[in-house]
Amino acid sequence: MTDLSAPPFSSRHIGPSEPEQQRMLQAVGFESVADLVAVAVPEAIRAKDRLKLPAAASETEAIAELRGLADRNQVLTSMIGLGYHDTVTPAVIRRNLLENPGWYTAYTPYQPEISQGRLEALLNFQTVVSDLTGLPVAGASLLDEATAAAEAMTLARRAGKSKSDVFVVDADTLPQTKAVLATRAEPLGITLVEDPLDGAPPECFGVLVQYPGASGRLRDFRAVAAAAHEAGALVVAAADLLALTLVAAPGEFGADIAVGSSQRFGVSFGFGGPHAAYMSVREGLQRQLPGRLVGVSVDADGGPAYRLALQTREQHIRREKATSNICTAQVLLAVIAGMYAVYHGPDGLRRIAHRVHRHAVALAGGLRRAGLEVVHGEFFDTVLVRVPGRAAAVLAAAAERGVNLWQVDDDHVSVACDEKTGAAEVAKVWAAFGAEGSEVTLDADALPASLPRESAYLTHPVFHAHHSETAMLRYLRRLQDKDIALDRSMIPLGSCTMKLNASTEMEPITWPEFAAIHPYAPAEQAAGYRELIGTLEDWLAEVTGYDTVSIQPNAGSQGEFAGLLAIRAYHRANGESGRDVCLIPSSAHGTNAASAVMAGMRVVVVACDSDGNVDLADLDAKIEKHRDTLAAIMVTYPSTHGVYEETITEVCAKVHEAGGQVYVDGANLNALVGLAKPGEFGADVSHLNLHKTFCIPHGGGGPGVGPVAVRGHLAGYLPGHPLHDGTPVGPVSAAPYGSAGILPISWAYIRMMGSEGLTAATEQAILSANYLARRLAPHYPVLYTGRGGLVAHECIIDLRQITKETGVTVDDVAKRLIDYGFHAPTMSFPVAGTLMIEPTESEDLGELDRFVEAMIAIRGEISRVASGDYDKTDNPLRNAPHTAESVTADEWPHPYARSEAAYPLPSLREGKYWVPVRRIDQAYGDRNLVCSCPPLEAYED
Ligand SMILES: *Cc1c(COP(=O)(O)O)cnc(C)c1O
Repeated sequence: MTDLSAPPFSSRHIGPSEPEQQRMLQAVGFESVADLVAVAVPEAIRAKDRLKLPAAASETEAIAELRGLADRNQVLTSMIGLGYHDTVTPAVIRRNLLENPGWYTAYTPYQPEISQGRLEALLNFQTVVSDLTGLPVAGASLLDEATAAAEAMTLARRAGKSKSDVFVVDADTLPQTKAVLATRAEPLGITLVEDPLDGAPPECFGVLVQYPGASGRLRDFRAVAAAAHEAGALVVAAADLLALTLVAAPGEFGADIAVGSSQRFGVSFGFGGPHAAYMSVREGLQRQLPGRLVGVSVDADGGPAYRLALQTREQHIRREKATSNICTAQVLLAVIAGMYAVYHGPDGLRRIAHRVHRHAVALAGGLRRAGLEVVHGEFFDTVLVRVPGRAAAVLAAAAERGVNLWQVDDDHVSVACDEKTGAAEVAKVWAAFGAEGSEVTLDADALPASLPRESAYLTHPVFHAHHSETAMLRYLRRLQDKDIALDRSMIPLGSCTMKLNASTEMEPITWPEFAAIHPYAPAEQAAGYRELIGTLEDWLAEVTGYDTVSIQPNAGSQGEFAGLLAIRAYHRANGESGRDVCLIPSSAHGTNAASAVMAGMRVVVVACDSDGNVDLADLDAKIEKHRDTLAAIMVTYPSTHGVYEETITEVCAKVHEAGGQVYVDGANLNALVGLAKPGEFGADVSHLNLHKTFCIPHGGGGPGVGPVAVRGHLAGYLPGHPLHDGTPVGPVSAAPYGSAGILPISWAYIRMMGSEGLTAATEQAILSANYLARRLAPHYPVLYTGRGGLVAHECIIDLRQITKETGVTVDDVAKRLIDYGFHAPTMSFPVAGTLMIEPTESEDLGELDRFVEAMIAIRGEISRVASGDYDKTDNPLRNAPHTAESVTADEWPHPYARSEAAYPLPSLREGKYWVPVRRIDQAYGDRNLVCSCPPLEAYED
């Protein structure tokens, strides 16, 4: 009988078909995948059993199960506030941006020429933030408001003149911000002092003010700022962007740094995230900004072009000199927030803010007239009401009417209005307080008279040109068309695992039952979420061999920090607080050392040998030297060199024997899932990157989720949250479950792959990397290999000799690949002068061969440079990439043909990607730092 069952999802997720897989195996010289894996993966780390996961569900079944979970969440009107406000994502943005793979599958814009669309969108975001906060330089997103505040705290300490170690926090700061500040401050020796800021702040290096406050109170901080500056301290304002359309900007009342969330600019709650936080700074602090900063430069033809400024890779994560560990940020959400501002324009935003404010005023007026006490006379959107002993009853009465309010204490309830608040909601709230029948009267605004918003904002034409839906649709399309994302071609980035982000995985995240849940909604309203999170944490524990997982960290970097805090707390609990040395191999990702510094550890670098492995002799020496103070080793496995180090179990044993803990950076878990488990082969803790191994799309540089996974002895030290039962370690993210809103993606992936599918994916990823290595090896030397001459899930090709002989650099190859329609591999990491390629399991043989063909053709071009057939400097490699404008110019001064420039392979004649700018001058942009939308004249010839 013919098999009538549908092919499993894994056959959709895994690119190569079985016959293709056979051809690839043949090329690599193996009979079967099992044989290949048996040679490639060291026996010592192999997992004994298959993963204990439920049998794979079909796409239809998985969606049905997710529907069931979603139905267990209850969507109420949320008037909880506290940094999270309901908002309308304009449908044109939801459908054509958030739900559009042209946007969400893009990578971080390290290759600026193929990222002009999202870079422009991020520049819009920076302009919004800079204009509204009244500070000249804004970055392209931080992880959440609380961690942004923590970054501002450390920035103030670095940049300020004060010798104090005290950071003063406004008593009216959001609770999650206070908690994250405490987590971050303690290991760095910073003392937090909470203060009502009624007079001058106590002696300190910095002060954080919340504007408006958590209680809704909106106050003038001019005197506080002046007093702080007088004493040599910097002022940080945590500000609400929507409020800033109506009241004075932080930059105008004396803030040096502004931070906050852009969530209410069109981004759903998602049970806490992901949302883009922002930071802006005054002149003079821009080189201290953490995270990425988009700037304007010029291309080879002198036209304006965007790129990431002030960093060869990431200026702030320079190993032990690091000042921040932020890598993956919240790009997709920043793009949405920026587009929300583009769509509404300054007048639209002011109208929305005004509407929010008028509803809050009406709400307060009705309560007052009913005899209730409204605590603050001046507020923007949040009304604090005193109801002695009745707070819980009011909350219950509101919930009965379908509205969530916030209980501050037994005697106080706060009510936050937002873009969706209307007369019906106000009436329900009145009723909940026992003030039924109150009527809206024309009370005066409740904004402080001393804080008028006088400066203009969003004057740039981009905020005035796209207000009709047609114009918005075309603007989104025009920007999307400039970029290469996974919807065009493979993105062969080592260490970043740009695999399929399946449509079925993506679908649920915009369902209201997942998108519209406030992170502080009552637990029973999020029952579906809690089950989904619990299940996902259990599955990840099974996959990694650890005992407990927390999904709170909202990027890999934050998972690292959380893991190291767990190690630190464990040593302290054992009376070994002197253990503060963290060993890190020289090949490690920059975030590792940065996280260690943030966790109060001292970084000691361990050398790698010529094969790229941890140098055991050096490890022994370093362990010996720091035996009594050894806290941990952080190793990436498989290593960033793309090989399975044979000695990993030995490395673990040596560190354990000296009393240290082993942290395995799980960014490369795509080489291990189903085959080996870090928690079983000797590690104590890992972070994973759900935006690498578990299919959350890269979003052009975020969002991500970086769960931290630990063995039992560290389980008591995972990140807590002020809203949950106390644990010894505080939260690392603002929201209790971090970026919960995108967890359905990873849940769906695991659910649809099952044990066999996940293992097959890993095997295919290894086979594909080895296939590429084998095919490229005759043309480019492959730098590191392990047993049997095999690599793991990625390979590094070495151009250093080629560069020496011909002058052609990795940059030239990367930019020439654009002419061939490809995103470049990872450049010069972890070894300068090399390219790291990770094909992932999702690319089929045709696509892999297309890439190989391009790389071989480029090698041919390099040979022509070497032989003198091509000019040493005026050749297609050095001049790459070629725009349509440049190859159709009336003048063509180059010694090679236009067709060689544009169509080096015949296959490119169909579906050619035309890059929008020529090669970008990085140095020019850093010398002439421009980080907000340039005036239109800049685009004139
Ligand atoms: C991506 C990566 C990280 C950082 O993760 P983010 O999510 O970007 O913060 C850390 N280590 C390695 C090896 C990585 O590849």
